[in-house]
Amino acid sequence: MEKLNMAEFTPQPSCADDVDHNNLTVEQARQRIHDLLSPISSWQKVSLRQALGQVLHQSVVSPRQVPPYNNSAMDGYALQSADIKNAPFSLNNVGVAFAGKPYQGHVEAGQCIRIMTGAKIPDGCDTVVMQEQVESDNQTITIHTDVKAGQNVRLAGEDIDCGDTVLPAGRRLTPADLGLLASLGIAEIVTYRPLRVAFFSTGDELCGLGEHLGDGQIYDSNRYTLYGMLSELNIDVIDMGVIPDNRAALKIALEQAAADADVILSSGGVSVGDADYVKDMLAELGQVNFWKIAMRPGRPLAFGQIGEAMFFGLPGNPVSVMVTFYQFVQPALKRLAGESDTLPIIIEVPCDNAIKKRAGRFEFQRGILFRNNEGQLRVSTTGAQGSGILRSMSMANCFILLEENCDGLSAGSLVNVQPFAGLV
Ligand code: AMP
Ligand code: MG
Repeated sequence: MEKLNMAEFTPQPSCADDVDHNNLTVEQARQRIHDLLSPISSWQKVSLRQALGQVLHQSVVSPRQVPPYNNSAMDGYALQSADIKNAPFSLNNVGVAFAGKPYQGHVEAGQCIRIMTGAKIPDGCDTVVMQEQVESDNQTITIHTDVKAGQNVRLAGEDIDCGDTVLPAGRRLTPADLGLLASLGIAEIVTYRPLRVAFFSTGDELCGLGEHLGDGQIYDSNRYTLYGMLSELNIDVIDMGVIPDNRAALKIALEQAAADADVILSSGGVSVGDADYVKDMLAELGQVNFWKIAMRPGRPLAFGQIGEAMFFGLPGNPVSVMVTFYQFVQPALKRLAGESDTLPIIIEVPCDNAIKKRAGRFEFQRGILFRNNEGQLRVSTTGAQGSGILRSMSMANCFILLEENCDGLSAGSLVNVQPFAGLV
């Protein structure tokens, strides 16, 4: 990974600045992260099945036509358009073509053949009449409807022509893409190597699953939400466990992570009032900036580089972790992984309940998008919006996006909503 321009990380305040560099808007923070990252250079050749969820390193150009030959779109009879007359008219039935078993002869004037869906159109024919419109006694067929030249024939190359770009570089491959590539006979594909992301939680209060929960302790949940969100992106994860609030342990963890991973994620210990050694340690090992972002939840975010690895220091509160991940880390990981930029899917819907908010920060409230009894799309909030209430994320299926200057909304107001379904 190329080195960052560190001038970006030590912004000097100036009276000409319209924003304090440590107090960014959501959009500014997202843009800065975007501008400082570029895709990893490693790629790999993988089999088609392995390629699911991976990012294409090169565009795929079709080596052949799809469909490969003219074929019937219907079960019926294939004929020459020169024989079409006003209905009714009759033709001699001289053979049959099945999908995979073409008719070998040449169909002459006044003749037709029985043909099945997907079967190759025989030489001499260019039109198919569906069987429901035909009366047949095996030898002769009589057609009872008007026929248009070329009807019910799927032409060679109609879907994809030889040399067409079917999938662009930067595309994350979907199940449909695998089928499309298979239809072209492509068995192997070049993708970006999956990112390696190391993550750990910090905090003396944190207890691992299966351990006895002592006085003043809580279970570590952040590593599980992070594991889940990273897995959605087809990432190789390195779970480094819980790191105690201790200088030496943190140093070892960061050095190890920087050696093993493309990206390091930590949670906790970046808010104001935390032990300063976290910041000292990051300053000692790398170049990391601490940003205050005008958002709720998840105001503090540390971002920078340790060794060759990118570093994101997420807040500790469980909802803040998820919001900062989805809004900043996930787009960054997609970019590093080689994926092309896409705009988030945002829809405007009426909110069923009133929303409480103070002006000043952009809020990502948790919402439930649903259809009401009249079939109209609506959203409601999940209730209490504290940044520690992880249940609000579990109940939600979308973020309700509330602009900085919004100071609350009455029930029925239109709000912007970002569905979780569009986040992956
Ligand atoms: P911090 O940012 O370290 O001050 O943590 C903020 C809040 O999040 C505190 O209430 C922590 O106990 C809680 N917290 C931090 N890390 C975790 C974690 N991994 N799982 C659950 N809660 C956490
Ligand atoms: Mg802590």
